[in-house]
Amino acid sequence: MSISQRVKLAIARRKLSSHRIAFGSENALEVWEQNKIRAEFKRSPQLREAIGRDELGTIERSDMREYQLHKFRQQMDYVMKNSYYYKKKFEAAGIRPEDIRTWEDLQKVPFTEPADLAAEPFTFLCVSQSKVMRVFSTSGTTGMRKRLFYTQNDVLNIVDSIAAALKTVGMTDKDTLQIMFPAVAAWDPGLMLNSACKVAGMNSVVESSADVDQQIRTMKENRTTMMIGLTSFLYRVTLLAKDRYDLRSFGMKAIICSAEPLSEAMRREMISSWGCPVLAQYGMTEMGLATSVECDQYDGLHLNDADFLVECVDPETGRHVGDREPGELIFTSLSMEGSPLIRYRSYDLSCTIEPPCGCGFRTVGKIGKVQGRLDTQTKIGYGQKIYPLLFDEAILPVPGVLSYTLTLEREGFRDRLTFTVEHEGDPATVGKKVLDAINALDEIISARENDLILEPEVVLIPAGSVEFAPKSKTIIDKRPNYDIGGGKA
Ligand SMILES: [Zn+2]
Repeated sequence: MSISQRVKLAIARRKLSSHRIAFGSENALEVWEQNKIRAEFKRSPQLREAIGRDELGTIERSDMREYQLHKFRQQMDYVMKNSYYYKKKFEAAGIRPEDIRTWEDLQKVPFTEPADLAAEPFTFLCVSQSKVMRVFSTSGTTGMRKRLFYTQNDVLNIVDSIAAALKTVGMTDKDTLQIMFPAVAAWDPGLMLNSACKVAGMNSVVESSADVDQQIRTMKENRTTMMIGLTSFLYRVTLLAKDRYDLRSFGMKAIICSAEPLSEAMRREMISSWGCPVLAQYGMTEMGLATSVECDQYDGLHLNDADFLVECVDPETGRHVGDREPGELIFTSLSMEGSPLIRYRSYDLSCTIEPPCGCGFRTVGKIGKVQGRLDTQTKIGYGQKIYPLLFDEAILPVPGVLSYTLTLEREGFRDRLTFTVEHEGDPATVGKKVLDAINALDEIISARENDLILEPEVVLIPAGSVEFAPKSKTIIDKRPNYDIGGGKA
């Protein structure tokens, strides 16, 4: 490392707080979040007034909520002064920051649509261009490419939160994190993860090869003890390597599955192959990638409540749903300076879960595992909802299956479902087991009883005959003029 790099790193560390949390300390993420609340409590008479105490003492869940509402009002005020989009939007809605006193009041604030952000990114920008340190583009799973602007403070804060999250899952200065996002070009989670490890004094290695043997070589050379990467890729590495290498001998401490949903079928397979916890992580580029990570209770992902306010709403009515009730996640970035987003629609289906958690967190909330996206959910037959995770749970446990895609077509008034399955081993056995698993699903049984779908078909392709492609669509809908309302036109 050059002298100037060392100086930069030293300056960056001074601004951060995650490195003040010792390696191996319990609940690192919660402590990190509480430290932020303490700092704001000292700084802000408004927060002291909202909480109604002169001394903060022990932080309770209700204090966390007051802190979030306080930051929400501040952020609303900030975007109304600095972002053209929000000034117009909130003035038109006749809403002001002081109108938001309670959690229920949040519902008065209109949602921000991803399409608005994609269409006019610069109307969201709150700082001068010279203050923008990085511009991120989203990978655009739904074809909409969005641009986000981050200041230096934004980038440092993201890096800091990632470091705190890695400490929470047990990473220390003795570990090496292997960062595995092959062929992810549009955005770069690897860069942020790598930086987080550097500022926190932890070791990491970026291995972007899609080649499984290369990944294993890198693990051996670097004595990798933790892995983070694209869920489907980590699963693929596990399946293709488990018969040829003794995966348990690596002594992996944790595997973190990122950017795609983790089905329980995938999780079970990876736990039994590596012999370590397999955790889900969830984040959006719009929110700076990192917003939550699962704990060893496997009952939801802990949020960074200090920087994000997360609500769960009924997508049809826009109203809040209760604890653990399914709905769409809505995000507000409470600390961003570059292009903060207020009540941003994620289109991701999940739920929120109130603390405490079995792992010891008392004040930090969780989200449930993301079940899919509103826009990847589709309907067959009489309107039975189908989504990728439904088939993940059914098809992926079949021995030999690596991946699959489902093509939907229309034949007369019936839907035709063709599953293209990448597999290892005897095709006849795999094919029969996959078909049985699909035909056992309630959604398929019901659609077939009503004679609205043809018998599902399975097409088998041998492992390796397709190249690994991240974020590829699992369900390809080729039906013409499909009526989203369900049933046939
Ligand atoms: Zn927990």
